[in-house]
Amino acid sequence: MVSAILPTYTRAPLTFVKGEGSWLIEADGRRFLDLGAGIAVNALGHANPALVSALTRQAETLWHVSNLYHIGPQETLAEMLVDATFADTVFFTNSGTESCELAVKMARKHFFDAGDPDRVEILTFSGSFHGRSSAGISAAGSEKMTRGFGPLLPGFRHLPFGNHEALQGAIDERTAAILVEPIQGEGGIRPLPDVCLKGLRDLCDTHGILLILDEVQCGVGRTGKLFAHEWAGITPDIMMVAKGIGGGFPLGAVLATEDAASGMTAGTHGSTYGGNPLACAVGCAVLEAVTADGFLDDVAARAGQFRQGLESLVATYPDVFEAVRGTGLMLGLVCKAANTDVVKSGYNAEVLLVPAAENVVRILPPLNITEPEVTEALARLTTCAEQVRASVSEEA
Ligand SMILES: *Cc1c(COP(=O)(O)O)cnc(C)c1O
Repeated sequence: MVSAILPTYTRAPLTFVKGEGSWLIEADGRRFLDLGAGIAVNALGHANPALVSALTRQAETLWHVSNLYHIGPQETLAEMLVDATFADTVFFTNSGTESCELAVKMARKHFFDAGDPDRVEILTFSGSFHGRSSAGISAAGSEKMTRGFGPLLPGFRHLPFGNHEALQGAIDERTAAILVEPIQGEGGIRPLPDVCLKGLRDLCDTHGILLILDEVQCGVGRTGKLFAHEWAGITPDIMMVAKGIGGGFPLGAVLATEDAASGMTAGTHGSTYGGNPLACAVGCAVLEAVTADGFLDDVAARAGQFRQGLESLVATYPDVFEAVRGTGLMLGLVCKAANTDVVKSGYNAEVLLVPAAENVVRILPPLNITEPEVTEALARLTTCAEQVRASVSEEA
């Protein structure tokens, strides 16, 4: 008999009943160090007092009103995002995949209104992940996500990651946009080198097409900049945001330049919950914290500490790990042993990791993880490596 919850997830035998900062407490009382943060969602850790207070204050005032009316916290958050980024305008969603839906619609409408209605095709890359809606899976295009779910949304062209000739050859009079994650998350923490991101910007400018960045996982301070593309010194035309922006409350956004968004006039798009007062009140508190003086410097410092520790872990356990990659607190350990075994050994060592493609385990801790917590995380990862080494040599 099917479980009461649709069984689309393989779940670990863990039920967390409470969260405190970088820690999750299991029903049996064990304290797990959370290096997954809800997959880069709990940007400020669990039960952060500033977020709890923003949410509670808003909950006591106004939960929901329709987008038929002006919504104060939504306007405040939009202005904060416009001030802090390339964007001129923002639409709020509830998730990353909804942000993908709008990004695709916006790019196509831009060219439709510009009198170029055949310019509908969006170029994407192997290993990418853009969410689970029909547009999201069609954009990413992998067999694993799309099999059995056809007919897919047409108008995506999937290119091999890192193949410059294939990309240049793919741009024609039907191309509307390039959609890319500055650092692939689900794809195994694969960063796009800054020079490639610059190259993509140039290519888009040369051909008059739009650059859409998916910063759902790598955005909101994760890499040590507010958004990952800032490292490359370029800006996109459209950007998808979610995960960290809500700090654990469902919130997403599409940020865009005035020109890219020019087709999105009254009545062309909408959302019942998008920009909900509760979500936006929390979003304001997250953005305030992440843009506060010194916050991103601390992210960079913790990232350096992690990186150094992980490099020496790889050097000490070359039979378990192969390499470290990523930027800031979006780190990946490329494994030699099965990444799922490393994640499982983490359950014994009471440290939470997230698997990704290419046999990688992801390390995406709360951005405000402390120095002693990083030290503790590295100790627990060493315990994992010992366990995996022991079980591998047992098998041999
Ligand atoms: C998680 C993720 C999404 C989808 O976000 P949801 O909120 O799960 O819909 C899209 N793009 C990237 C890069 C992501 O990591």
